Amino acid sequence: MKNEERKNENETGEKNSKELPFEIDRRSVYKCVQCGTCRSVCPVFDAVGWESANTRGRMLIIKSLLEGRPPSEDVLPSLASCTTCGICAAKCPAGANPPEVVEAARAQLVKCGVTTEAQENLKSAVITYGNSFGDTKSRKHWLSETERSKLPEKSEYVYFVGCFDSYRYPEFAKKTFGILQRFGVTLLPDEQCCASPLLRTGFTEDAEKVMKHNLEQIRKVGAHTIITSCAGCYTTLKNNYPEELRVISLPEFLAEHLEELNLKKLDFTVTYHDPCHLGRHNKVYNAPRKVIQAICTLMEMKNIKENARCCGGGGGVRTGYPDISLELARTRLKDVPEGVDYIVTSCPLCVRNLRDAGGDIEVIDIVELVAMAIE
Ligand code: SF4
Ligand code: SF4
Repeated sequence: MKNEERKNENETGEKNSKELPFEIDRRSVYKCVQCGTCRSVCPVFDAVGWESANTRGRMLIIKSLLEGRPPSEDVLPSLASCTTCGICAAKCPAGANPPEVVEAARAQLVKCGVTTEAQENLKSAVITYGNSFGDTKSRKHWLSETERSKLPEKSEYVYFVGCFDSYRYPEFAKKTFGILQRFGVTLLPDEQCCASPLLRTGFTEDAEKVMKHNLEQIRKVGAHTIITSCAGCYTTLKNNYPEELRVISLPEFLAEHLEELNLKKLDFTVTYHDPCHLGRHNKVYNAPRKVIQAICTLMEMKNIKENARCCGGGGGVRTGYPDISLELARTRLKDVPEGVDYIVTSCPLCVRNLRDAGGDIEVIDIVELVAMAIE
């Protein structure tokens, strides 16, 4: 909501939505003992240096909101700039989970009408067009009419494409589906955004509608397993959907089917960037490495797996704070070892952000590497 609109609401004498109570699980907030361990790992703090933009600062602000501070725009630079990378949770000696607390706080701020313009735009795009880009094209525009007409209506396996591959990297979608089709995988008749951008930015009620729609689509197809190549879709489908779904990431599926894929060896060396929402949040570390090592030589980055640094793209930060987001990506590129031919990752948002950071080494998705080994 824009400042002007909110100001007008006050002037009309109507009850201001900001007077809503700020409710959040107190135990999760008070777990933070303000030791400051997270100051040394928060990538946003590393990039901007404001005390309020490190994990401890965010936790203190949320505590103050719980204790009666009126929710206002003042808290947004702190609470809207967390990428939800989760490295603070992995390092916190008190067992706090700051990204979970930040997401819950964002949901409360949305209820109180305190949001950034970027968050509102993101929400409108998803609600109006079913995708986070506000793109008006068909979600399956990357398939020909004939290919679309031949899609099986029923299948045990569904490829959940996601907004990024549908609209920004249709070539990844084509390659992924080309591989998965060999295993009888189909697409949802009317897939919409997985709801990750809504959930990460606090629009939980809107997210519920989108999730309900996708669940109906999954039921329609009769699928028991969903395969996705986007780390954001993966964590959302697996951990946030109201029904327990069997969700497999593309690297896990590929690692399970290496023999059938009959991949050829390629004579180059790559490094691998762990997407936060695939790695740290869901512990998918070995599958992508197994796939890479079946094809070529893997040389690890400086900070990997649990310690991997964030690409800067998540949590709505790429949209809301593009400069900070790019700074994080540039920092991540400094972890790339010398002598590699490609940086491989398994999330289109990481591909996008790392590419935008403009390093010398090409960033590719794992499906591109696999496609090279198949062709
Ligand atoms: S979140 Fe954890 S690591 Fe950070 S200040 Fe609080 S207790 Fe310390
Ligand atoms: S989740 Fe990442 S960006 Fe957010 S507070 Fe923790 S370390 Fe910082």
